Amino acid sequence: MTNKNPHEGNRMDPNDWTAFRAEMHQVLDACVDHLENARNHPWRPVPDGFDAAISLDTPTRGDASSLLTDTIMPASTGNTHPAFFGWVHGTGQAMGLASEMVAAAMNSNCGGRDHGGIRIEKECIRWLTDLAGLGENASGILTTGTSQATIYALSAAKVARFGADVRKTGVQNLPTVRVYIAKGAHSCIKQAMEILGFGGDAVCQITLKDGAMDTDALQTQLTQDAAAGIVPLAIVGTAGSVNTGTYDDLNTLSRIAQEHSTWLHVDAAFGFWIRIAAPRLSILASGIEHANSIALDGHKWLGVQYDCGACLLRDHDLHRATFSDRAEYLTAQSAGIGAGDWWPTDYGTELSRGMRALKLWTTLKTHDRDTISAAITDNCDQAALMGELVEASPHLTLAHPVISNLCVFTPNAGDASDIAAALQLSGDAVFSTTTVDGKNCLRAAIVNHRTTSQTIHDVIAAVEAQVIAAR
Ligand SMILES: *Cc1c(COP(=O)(O)O)cnc(C)c1O
Repeated sequence: MTNKNPHEGNRMDPNDWTAFRAEMHQVLDACVDHLENARNHPWRPVPDGFDAAISLDTPTRGDASSLLTDTIMPASTGNTHPAFFGWVHGTGQAMGLASEMVAAAMNSNCGGRDHGGIRIEKECIRWLTDLAGLGENASGILTTGTSQATIYALSAAKVARFGADVRKTGVQNLPTVRVYIAKGAHSCIKQAMEILGFGGDAVCQITLKDGAMDTDALQTQLTQDAAAGIVPLAIVGTAGSVNTGTYDDLNTLSRIAQEHSTWLHVDAAFGFWIRIAAPRLSILASGIEHANSIALDGHKWLGVQYDCGACLLRDHDLHRATFSDRAEYLTAQSAGIGAGDWWPTDYGTELSRGMRALKLWTTLKTHDRDTISAAITDNCDQAALMGELVEASPHLTLAHPVISNLCVFTPNAGDASDIAAALQLSGDAVFSTTTVDGKNCLRAAIVNHRTTSQTIHDVIAAVEAQVIAAR
């Protein structure tokens, strides 16, 4: 019997595959052009007329590819450009084009079952836990980013402290808990505590010493809190702080965590990758191998396309006990696609999920360790160079010594926010701003594999010109 209706089963595929193929080749060419010329295209404001052009009230019936390439692609964040240093935005990998395209063609659901995407993610986790040094029993899962990974990690800390029953009984009968972070550590930790039900007030900020958590102050606080019956849920060390790129002393934090029988979580969102840099730099993250959990991003310093983060845990069984709860319709089979012994859904809150792992895998497969190491080391050298130029400039003042890949400084005239905006609008550079020691600073987080020393010289000259104009 033939189909009664020729459209049935064909309503949403292209009518003409030959034409579609030609169209896709054009899109691919436009994407490669975009990347090949990325060095010439700084961030630009979204043009007038953009919102009307993308209105969904006027379907294009099929061909949207010229809109994609000509209208939408230019309206990007600009983080593909070598003078983009704002926030901590990864630059992206050229081969990411291939993995994103292949992932779209496969359209795998990577919540579980037995197929290639699951094996790829498992292999990425093995590689990451090896680099972290978490040992044979380690576990992990890819996440949207460090924010989600932090929720996962502190959930595991909760189960480690109170037992898996806490998943059933909730937090209402628990004693008061606290997590300890360095002052100014990332807001995702507070957010995780809010979501876990402990509340943001359970975050205790420890004062800084030389930009990192003052471990003596931490000891004092833990002892005081213990006397008051407060339970330490976790110490959160930062490997690469948001404001200054500082690393907490993870060896000491690990010792303190053991003394107080608590969990050590490390926020290594971008700083994780220093572990692969030149030894004089990788030593900054020394001690991360003692962590109970680590949150990190692929999409920042490694430049994997957004979004891609990971939560790594030292204890596989605990990780699984924190999340696993298969409903009957998810029972694994012994054979077929419903088989497989490692299902990501047992290690996090997502069921349906995309093939986040493929772009990470492609990045790690196509660059050897030395290349990644050199790119990370270059960025630290560039931040150091920026620091030297700032110190040598009569128009700028360094706000904090350069530790890794961050440089923060103040203009000697004008306002940092105004100068940042002017530099963005002129296309010279993208800095973000932050407050260090009460002063509004320009902040460069260099995680950009296209940046060169010349970029740094050009950018600082552009900043100086703005400061002079503001006098
Ligand atoms: C970016 C960042 C985060 C948040 O990570 P997302 O991937 O944006 O969720 C947390 N901590 C630090 C230190 C960061 O730089």
